[in-house]
Amino acid sequence: MRQERIIHGVVASVGTAIGKAVRTFDPLFVSFNFKLRPDQVRKEVERFRSSVEKSRVQLKRMQSELKRNSGPESSFLIDAHLLVLQDRLFVDRIIEKIETDWINAEWAIQQVSDDLFQAYDRLNDDYLRERRGDLDDIVRRLLHNLQSKPLPSFKKLPYDAILVGKLVPPSTLFELRSQRIVGLATETGSPLSHTAIMARSLEIPAIVGAAELAEVASGDLLIVDGERGVVIWSPSDETIARYKNRDRDGKKLRKKPGNSPSAPTVTEDSVQISLGANINFSEEVRSAAAHGCEFIGLYRTEFDFFREGKQPDEESLVADYSLVLKTAKGAPVTFRTIDVGIDQKSWDGVSMNLGVRGLRFCLENTDIFKKQLRSVYRASVHGPTRILLPFVSSVDDLDAAHLVIEEVRNELRARRQRYDSNVPIGVMIETPAAAQTCDLMASRVDFFCLGTNDLIQYYLVVDRSDQSVVHLYNPFHPAILRCLQQVYSLVRPTGKPVTVCGEMAADPPSAAVLLGLGFTSLSVNLAAYPRIQRMIRSVSMSKLKQLAADILKMHKPKEVEEKVRATVYRT
Ligand code: PEP
Ligand code: MG
Repeated sequence: MRQERIIHGVVASVGTAIGKAVRTFDPLFVSFNFKLRPDQVRKEVERFRSSVEKSRVQLKRMQSELKRNSGPESSFLIDAHLLVLQDRLFVDRIIEKIETDWINAEWAIQQVSDDLFQAYDRLNDDYLRERRGDLDDIVRRLLHNLQSKPLPSFKKLPYDAILVGKLVPPSTLFELRSQRIVGLATETGSPLSHTAIMARSLEIPAIVGAAELAEVASGDLLIVDGERGVVIWSPSDETIARYKNRDRDGKKLRKKPGNSPSAPTVTEDSVQISLGANINFSEEVRSAAAHGCEFIGLYRTEFDFFREGKQPDEESLVADYSLVLKTAKGAPVTFRTIDVGIDQKSWDGVSMNLGVRGLRFCLENTDIFKKQLRSVYRASVHGPTRILLPFVSSVDDLDAAHLVIEEVRNELRARRQRYDSNVPIGVMIETPAAAQTCDLMASRVDFFCLGTNDLIQYYLVVDRSDQSVVHLYNPFHPAILRCLQQVYSLVRPTGKPVTVCGEMAADPPSAAVLLGLGFTSLSVNLAAYPRIQRMIRSVSMSKLKQLAADILKMHKPKEVEEKVRATVYRT
């Protein structure tokens, strides 16, 4: 018997699944490339057009089913495919090739898509590179339909199947969705990929970017752990039992009165903590609402804003933001305005760019900033809305932002467009300058969000995206503890609420430190939500306060971390 092995990947969709691997096999499209006689050209163009039409009908059907079963927010995935089918650069060029080079449709598709694939591969942007998958998916569909091959069907799959492949196209995942598929694990891809988004929409636990899966064969037993970001290959009986128990405990815990995800999150000694969710994509708001999250503490709007590789217009932004607010079902949503470097290479939020990003970018590009603000304000009639300004380093920045906000509100009044005039405005404390001067900012804002991700990188001078210095990026560093203590003591007398929304809040030990230092509002990514909720319910605030006092006297990050872990996990 094979030994249990842990394969690391990245969480694309939360939850755990136990099942048998089913490898997707990319059938080699043995299609022939050949020259046509002139009298065959017209018929070939017709054959291609009918494949386009057949694909369009299939996608439309898929889209309306998605809208019906998973909510309208995921149907945009199919829009991307439909757009490829309408794209003149694609469809018309294929027809042109058939007509001028006298080649068959398969060959023309291959030539045109190869050019486009090369262009995608040259892109310097992870998100846009991921869009290559849409083209790949549509090419596959067109070829299937040209050859009148039936699309894959789930009927032959075993029950409890975990789909494993180099890459599983989003439409395949959709077409195969059924009770039989319990999980997904891919060798490549990222949480930004459309397959990941589709998995979240279908609520299928998924891990992506796990290269070692290449060795896994169909029939192997797997556990997809969408909390830890791992796939367990050939799990031992104990591991399986542990996961099954966890699942059972989780179900029991959810049933126990006061322990449901939507019940208030209180510590053992009855201190109530506000726990919100961070989202990067609008469709995540559905899962957040399903988890019973009290509020969306951070919606990183730049991902959706630049998702199509071009700027959205105001009307579509209003529609998207309205949908987010309606889906949140009364939970306040914090729209963080675009945090992006001017070159847009850094808009994955892991920016090495110390120049024009966050609010600075918006103040230099007021047309974009105003468009986004107008859209948020117009959507605000659909639910409690908050606006959050990122990467602020001075009171002057804030004053400048307020002027723009006032202009936008005047414009909306002049246009007689409805909006909520009481939308709270908040600021991120994520630069050392903001950490030192948050008390001076207080009169200009309604709330604060503490962004520990950037704060730690700028405090410790450690680039958060650079693997070679990752060991130096440490939330338990005494400098960080002191900084957080100072922020708390500056903010508290102002009476303005503060939520910690950096990843420090998403890891139980560092989140416990935040609680001990006095922060009682946290916002975390959805994968971390259940474990942070469990941690809060299992600790006593009085003990955490003592812990904070003790660690503030320590000299080294390692000592701090050991002490914290011993307290949180009671080892
Ligand atoms: C942060 O810096 O802590 C934060 C939440 O913002 P982002 O991770 O988007 O930079
Ligand atoms: Mg940040």
